Amino acid sequence: MMQRALPRRCILCDAPTQDERICLDCDIELPRLPLARCAACAVPLASGELCGTCLRAPPSFERVLGVFAYDFPVDALIHAFKYGRRLSLAPVLGEALAGSVASGADVLVPMPLAPRRLSERGFNQALEIARFVSRRHGIPIVAAGCRKVTETLPQAALPWKARAKNVRRAFVCDTPFNGLRVAVVDDVLTTGASLQPGRR
Ligand SMILES: [Zn+2]
Ligand SMILES: [Zn+2]
Repeated sequence: MMQRALPRRCILCDAPTQDERICLDCDIELPRLPLARCAACAVPLASGELCGTCLRAPPSFERVLGVFAYDFPVDALIHAFKYGRRLSLAPVLGEALAGSVASGADVLVPMPLAPRRLSERGFNQALEIARFVSRRHGIPIVAAGCRKVTETLPQAALPWKARAKNVRRAFVCDTPFNGLRVAVVDDVLTTGASLQPGRR
């Protein structure tokens, strides 16, 4: 068997790298989330632990763990991964998330796609990302635990206030997760409305 080690190249600037998919120069420029952010929903904060919204009405999830702000070039990478079906980007996004979260969940639930969306796309991007978190932290994925039962409009296409309504009653969960710490994995978080069953 012949093996030839081709130098790996940075997916952003095409410079040769040691073994990284993104070179160190590009990595340092990535739009990481600011350290000062709401402990619950991760919106950037000037000061304090929780944002005003979470203080007034605590969200139904404990916290949001994320890596990047949805800015260039991360937005372009996610777009290419999801809509351009560049599955080779799954390790880039998955490893980045895995590296920034501590294990602390009992199960990972990838945000489900509606059946029609799933068959159009051919894969669930949230599941592809979750695989890397699962492997790194030894947390099992329960992919069949929750289902999306109605087709919704893409959250990003809607005005802020319409997003909660758009996803209300869109998901059904028929796995008993009682007593378990569940981490829902998704590629993009906008308002977190998908995780808030009754909140407007
Ligand atoms: Zn680069
Ligand atoms: Zn908040």
